[in-house]
Amino acid sequence: MSDWKARTKLVHGGTRRSQYNEVSEAIFLTQGFVYDTAEQAEARFLKTGEDEFIYARYGNPTVAMFEERIALLEGAEDAFATASGMAAVNGALMSLVKAGDHVVAAQALFGSCLYILEDILRRFGVEVTLVDGTDLEQWRAAVREDTAVVFFESMSNPTLEVIDVAAVSEIAHAVGAKVVIDNVFSTPVFSDAIAQGADIVIYSATKHIDGQGRALGGVILGSREIIRGVVEPYMKHTGGSMSPFNAWIMLKGLETIDLRVNAQAESALRIAQAFEGHEKLARMIYPGLESHAQNALIQRQLGGKGGTVVSFDIKGGQEATFRFLNALEVAVISNNLGDAKSIATHPATTTHQRLPDEQKAELGITPGLVRFSVGLEDVEDLIADLAQALDVA
Ligand SMILES: *Cc1c(COP(=O)(O)O)cnc(C)c1O
Repeated sequence: MSDWKARTKLVHGGTRRSQYNEVSEAIFLTQGFVYDTAEQAEARFLKTGEDEFIYARYGNPTVAMFEERIALLEGAEDAFATASGMAAVNGALMSLVKAGDHVVAAQALFGSCLYILEDILRRFGVEVTLVDGTDLEQWRAAVREDTAVVFFESMSNPTLEVIDVAAVSEIAHAVGAKVVIDNVFSTPVFSDAIAQGADIVIYSATKHIDGQGRALGGVILGSREIIRGVVEPYMKHTGGSMSPFNAWIMLKGLETIDLRVNAQAESALRIAQAFEGHEKLARMIYPGLESHAQNALIQRQLGGKGGTVVSFDIKGGQEATFRFLNALEVAVISNNLGDAKSIATHPATTTHQRLPDEQKAELGITPGLVRFSVGLEDVEDLIADLAQALDVA
């Protein structure tokens, strides 16, 4: 299976058929499994066999199919599926660090990731240093002998800064630190983060993997040693496992993810090109644009693909921006991304509301900033919708 091309892996990878030989993957909605004998139960808890299940918090056939399929796509040896993206971020970080350790992270992070680093880890005696992730000198200056983990979003939310996975991995590995990447915005379709040096790659499956706004999920990918030896014990004992039903949704999502994400990225580029320099915009941010500060890095790291999100800054602050959002007729106002439906988000008053104003300013989260997740609608309709809403702004 590992020789297959991505689209074949996404349709057939990880399939396990029951005695009925079903075409579509079965949903094993069961919490547990029956043993033929007491000896078999004992043996299974000793983990001697392959492909044997004990309890759905530890593993389940539908969940295992999803784990195998996403691991094949990412080029990772193994994966552990989680209840949400945040369960994945928390699980990866908590299983790798202990009191007294040092963590270096990029400051441009999803709000909940920042909470885990700044509130939870610090409460347990982990020292956290935040750096400007795009500045390699800051990474070099921040890592130390006791740095256990470096953590960053390879493409940041919502300002779409891209961090050099290969270069930061080299800096981290030089001091023996593990590299943990929240890779949502790069998407599993465009990412090659494991090959570029990441030890652990995390996705919120809620985003592009489902891609249709139905269910929460997440996944932690890495070497078998890390996933089964370090991550699984933490996850299975703390309860953040993915439900079999959600795993089935994510499995079916993977079948179409390559088609969806490529179509969304094409539309995102068209939209970014159409509105770059628009008189109502102070700024258009899309990593696939040549004007993006890190376009050369994107060529190297993501094969030139800029992802499925564009962000732009509307002149006239929050008032003008709310007029724009309220005028949208095709795109909806919400806070998911990677969905079939285009979604407009105002980070300053929603996803990043919690941050103090000066931190917002530092991260570029201005009152006029809109994060626009490009969906699967016809791009001409999206361009017309954005144009008429900008007129209202
Ligand atoms: C959505 C998101 C998460 C959290 O995922 P959930 O599935 O909502 O828990 C983490 N990181 C990034 C970058 C995200 O976009």
